[in-house]
Amino acid sequence: MRAEIISIGDELTSGQRLDTNSRWLSEQLGNLGVKTSFHTTVGDSMTDNIDAFRTASGRVEIVVTTGGLGPTADDLTREAISEAFHLPLELRPEALEHIESLFARRKRPMPEQNRIQAMFPFGARIIDNPHGTAPGIDLVVGTTAECSIASRIFSLPGVPAEMMQMYTTTVEPRLIQEMGLGAKRWYFHSLKVFGIGESDVEKLLPDLIRRDRDPIVGITVSQATITLRISALCSDENEFRHKIQPTIDEIHKQLGLLVFGSGEIDIDDATHSLMLDRGVSLGVVEIGSGAWIQHRLAKLSRQGSKGLQASQWFPSFEALEKSWSACSAGDSRTYVGSVEDSRTYVGLAAERFREEHDLDLCLAAGVYPTWGAVSTSKSLPSADFSFSLARRGKETKQTLVSLGAHPDVLYHRLAKAGLNYLRLELLQHG
Ligand code: AMP
Ligand code: MG
Repeated sequence: MRAEIISIGDELTSGQRLDTNSRWLSEQLGNLGVKTSFHTTVGDSMTDNIDAFRTASGRVEIVVTTGGLGPTADDLTREAISEAFHLPLELRPEALEHIESLFARRKRPMPEQNRIQAMFPFGARIIDNPHGTAPGIDLVVGTTAECSIASRIFSLPGVPAEMMQMYTTTVEPRLIQEMGLGAKRWYFHSLKVFGIGESDVEKLLPDLIRRDRDPIVGITVSQATITLRISALCSDENEFRHKIQPTIDEIHKQLGLLVFGSGEIDIDDATHSLMLDRGVSLGVVEIGSGAWIQHRLAKLSRQGSKGLQASQWFPSFEALEKSWSACSAGDSRTYVGSVEDSRTYVGLAAERFREEHDLDLCLAAGVYPTWGAVSTSKSLPSADFSFSLARRGKETKQTLVSLGAHPDVLYHRLAKAGLNYLRLELLQHG
């Protein structure tokens, strides 16, 4: 069964307020096995509301609307339903009684205007609102010239607390008891991927992203981390686990170590828990415009676990060199700005810092060559960025990663690329 949620209000369409009701309602409907196919947001205009109601009831079986049930001239939901489906409004004494009693309890006279909240389209059932003056509307609209399928409309107030309570105490039980819903629900499982673009993921898994597949797999990207969201309609968690296992196996087979975990984790957590697992101490040296890796690891350490043990940041290779020449046994080399030089410097920094602090590992990250351009909001050209990993008793390793993105994303991508390098080295080489 499919649903549409209509959010009503100029404050939503003008961007002044975020529509949080739709998100919540979609989740609730998913728990009953209903797939929400459309979120519609419409302003406080009668013709647009009529249009939205007719369109929704013409294409899905369940329509849930929020907003527009207040007593003022911009609250149009009742009238819009009445006009859209040619159902006259009628006064419902039980609703009026409830509204009057609310005012009496508040020791205020009921303004005449509030009577309108007791008006319901012909044939509608009332959805009680114990805490507000706006009762909800529950209406079945049959097949008409305007809508090709029969659908059930639930109209609730916009105030999130009232809307949620009315959904939970009245709408959900009616969906279960009267429409037989809830035997199955939508389940979701996420796999997290780093180090590949989303189109490359699709190329490697062409069959998995097919829309008519069951379970469905969707791809989203946030700050360079890819989420593969697997979803299916199932009776219980066991059935879901069983159903998605072949899909999970296929993803692991095709993407291998690019998959770093599942659920709500990012690469920081995956690398950090691997470090804790191996019991290794880590230092980080960063040379360039910010201490992005240190920042991410420090956050994890603040959450109460041992992460980063020592770290240092230098704004440039020149600053790093100066600090070295201040020590008596400095590796005195002059940085002239070539990629080869930056690689050498990053490697040396990792080794020196690891020895100085007696750490198991030290990750060093080198300057982004066109860093000056980061102050602009333009996308930066791809450039090579070097990471180096010094390890106790082992040879120092280096890698070059080609990075380029909007500056806001680049910092995250850069830090995550470093942490991912560390994760892969730990996994592949002990
Ligand atoms: P209304 O029922 O249209 O009078 O809306 C009452 C209040 O609920 C206003 O403060 C709205 O901003 C808020 N509201 C209405 N619709 C939504 C929505 N979809 N998400 C979050 N808040 C909403
Ligand atoms: Mg409104």
